Amino acid sequence: MPIAGATDSPRSRTVLEGVPVSPGIAIGPAWLLHPRKREIPKRSIAPGQAEAEVARLRRALDAAGRQVRALRERIGGDVGEYEARIFDSHALILRDEEILAAAARDIRDNLHNAEHAFHRQMNVLADRFDAAAGGFLKEHLIDLRDVAARVIDILTLADGEAPPELRHPVVLLARALTPSGLSQFAAGNLLGLCLETGGKASHTAILARSLGIPAVSGIPWAELSARAGGAVIVDGDAGRVILNPSLRDIKEHEHRRSVRLARERELEGLSGLEPVTRDGKHVALSANVERPGEAEAVLRHGAGGVGLYRSEFLFLGREDMPGEEEQYQAYKALAEALAPRHVTIRTLDAGGDKQIPGLQADDERNPHMGWRSIRVSLRNPEPFKAQLRAILRAGAGGNVRLMFPMITNLREFRAARAFAEEARAELAAAGVPHAADIETGCMIEVPSAALLAEDLAREADFFSIGTNDLAQFTLAVDRANERVSDLLEPHSPAVLREIQGVVQAARGQGIPVAICGEMAADPDLALLFVGMGVDELSMSPAQVPEIKRLIRSVGYEEARQCAREVLRLGTAEEVHALVKERFKDVLGRDA
Ligand code: PEP
Ligand code: MG
Repeated sequence: MPIAGATDSPRSRTVLEGVPVSPGIAIGPAWLLHPRKREIPKRSIAPGQAEAEVARLRRALDAAGRQVRALRERIGGDVGEYEARIFDSHALILRDEEILAAAARDIRDNLHNAEHAFHRQMNVLADRFDAAAGGFLKEHLIDLRDVAARVIDILTLADGEAPPELRHPVVLLARALTPSGLSQFAAGNLLGLCLETGGKASHTAILARSLGIPAVSGIPWAELSARAGGAVIVDGDAGRVILNPSLRDIKEHEHRRSVRLARERELEGLSGLEPVTRDGKHVALSANVERPGEAEAVLRHGAGGVGLYRSEFLFLGREDMPGEEEQYQAYKALAEALAPRHVTIRTLDAGGDKQIPGLQADDERNPHMGWRSIRVSLRNPEPFKAQLRAILRAGAGGNVRLMFPMITNLREFRAARAFAEEARAELAAAGVPHAADIETGCMIEVPSAALLAEDLAREADFFSIGTNDLAQFTLAVDRANERVSDLLEPHSPAVLREIQGVVQAARGQGIPVAICGEMAADPDLALLFVGMGVDELSMSPAQVPEIKRLIRSVGYEEARQCAREVLRLGTAEEVHALVKERFKDVLGRDA
């Protein structure tokens, strides 16, 4: 919705707030992608034509399959295997013999033409996807529509009509964009994206980030189509879109963009340097990754290893579950690409907003507090042990650590460890190479675990504090609900004191403690964590250089002193003000 500058004139400057889904700033002419109205030709055919019509449909499905395979290859080469897999579900739909058989029946029995018969079948399937419990199939509706449109286009137009070319650089405004749509546009002239639908975890958002295209979603199409016309600014950092910006807006954002680029280039120079404070205290700086293909980004940004590998991303966006071998190959690829750096593999953190088909419960009222994470793993021993065997096998090279998410008590941690031991014994009995003594960590992301930190520290090899969940549960603020997002205060004294308690418990037992939630990459909080004695900070690869610069600019002793004072303060505002004041020379204007 417009928040500033909107008047009744459609072409006036309009600032719209949305969800930042891919960082960076794009400025350019707006290009509205109007939802295409596809006329589905409907006609009756003569009985003698039925077989020819079925054959025409089969040819169209084959042609669509060829297009999808070509797209998959292109994306696999240009972007990565993970993104390319999006097209596997398209291929699966196109190969589905049941769809063809049902449409063929319609053609033969009702003498419908191929377009009409196929369209009817896809609608039946879309209704089934829409009604399926758990919401997982809803994610695939966009894939289904994409495939349906492709086949109808082939049937109604000349075979394989070329995708619309972007002749000039533009910012694309659309209601929705499929991953294949994005990949067709992404050949260089797509500066930025502004969408109505699609969250940060959508396939389109994943592709946009991998392609480095700034994007904002959650902007109502009605606003875009009514008001856009001239230039547009997409601020993928702030989640803001400015339609018909003023010259001042453009200058300001161009400036911010060039500062951003200059800073990125400057920070690249730090990648070979160690994250040590001015007085020699080393703080491990690691990366959070979702895909094995990100190993290159980890190295390029100079991270010392992986502090959190979110293994559930291997399970998302597909119909089946990856088996032990597939998981082993993925984990091994990451571990080998980064050896001798450590790779911390977190077991499946299913649930919440990451629904895994076959494992999740339907329609939960409080999915973040429901059937998720280690709870699901402990109740599904076979898939859990398959994952543990895969992790242990990938650890044969010696640089893999194992970590359990959402532990709420000692019993869960012990049970998870017992499964790991079973998995290890099975591998040993079968003579399969594996890590015999893998370091096993406990995530501290639920207040009960923070309260039990001393007990857990006696049994875990390391801690990793997941501040995203820890803050949401401590402050009773749903991390996914934008209406209360301002209450999820990262500088909250309650959360900071809780973290300090966990660090002290770890110190007491001599185990290392990491922070892998978003707070680790918040510049002033990162300095506080250094002062609290945290051993490792883990964040997305692109954030590593800036935090490394900060660590190298401060003294450990001054950070310690600041942390001591901060922990006595009672409000988030006071915390923020004190850190800002103490480190004003190094934090700069972003603080
Ligand atoms: C966290 O909760 O802070 C964390 C790192 O895990 P995730 O964001 O994957 O829930
Ligand atoms: Mg978490």
